[in-house]
Amino acid sequence: MLSHDELDELRSKKVFVLDMDGTFYLGNQLISGSLELIRALEQKGKTALFFTNNSSQSAAFYRRKIGQMGLESGEVPIYTSGDVLVYYLQKHYPGKRVYLVGTSSLEETLRQQDIVLANDEELPAGAGVDLVVAGFDTTLEYHKVERACAYLRRGAVFLATNPDLNCPTEQGFLPDCGSICAMLTAATGKKPLYLGKPYATTLDFLVRVTGYQPAEMVIVGDRLYTDIAFGKKNGITAVLVLSGETRPADWQKLLKADTDPTYRADYVFPSLAELGAVL
Ligand SMILES: [Mg+2]
Repeated sequence: MLSHDELDELRSKKVFVLDMDGTFYLGNQLISGSLELIRALEQKGKTALFFTNNSSQSAAFYRRKIGQMGLESGEVPIYTSGDVLVYYLQKHYPGKRVYLVGTSSLEETLRQQDIVLANDEELPAGAGVDLVVAGFDTTLEYHKVERACAYLRRGAVFLATNPDLNCPTEQGFLPDCGSICAMLTAATGKKPLYLGKPYATTLDFLVRVTGYQPAEMVIVGDRLYTDIAFGKKNGITAVLVLSGETRPADWQKLLKADTDPTYRADYVFPSLAELGAVL
């Protein structure tokens, strides 16, 4: 049971960053109480936004998906690790040429922001490519792996949208960006710089888009090594919901003394419904 003081701390926060899959919905199913949490945040004058590490689809795709679940389009801003990638490339590598290992949706996001892509060109291995960027590529083919490895061996910088090894779906686990990068690393010996949750570049991005500081933010999510670690590593209050990947029994195990402190959420709720009820 949470004390009044503890809840006051949570209630004093200004920005609630919500994970999507396993937190707001499961696959194509809205998790009961999710819409009520959004209404509660609106009523209290809080800023809500969605942030997902899944870079296989664009924010526009998620807007349509959430729209079908009853949330007005544009009501809550949606960002993906692909948006953090654009932010990072524009800030640190303006005008540089990028080879993308990603979906056509991520490619479209990069093109819209005038990132120069070398994917269409028949280049000799390594010629003129400054960076190799990997996302959650559900359209991965061998020739992309081959070219990416050639560019990395020739000295291209290696970036990746998110460290997740698997993406949970209704059909089971799909190998995610972290697993694709493990293959590229095995072949070349080069490791990527990851940008999504739990990494600090995502915090820089969120500070820029919201105008708020980490002490004013809350991250709410179902995955310990991305959502909760993002909060604990970056000075953001971390709320775990047990509606997705982390099961109640897992959380009981994590309360033991030898648990990695970056996995210890500040608050735990069964789902967004119970969080909404205490705000
Ligand atoms: Mg999740």
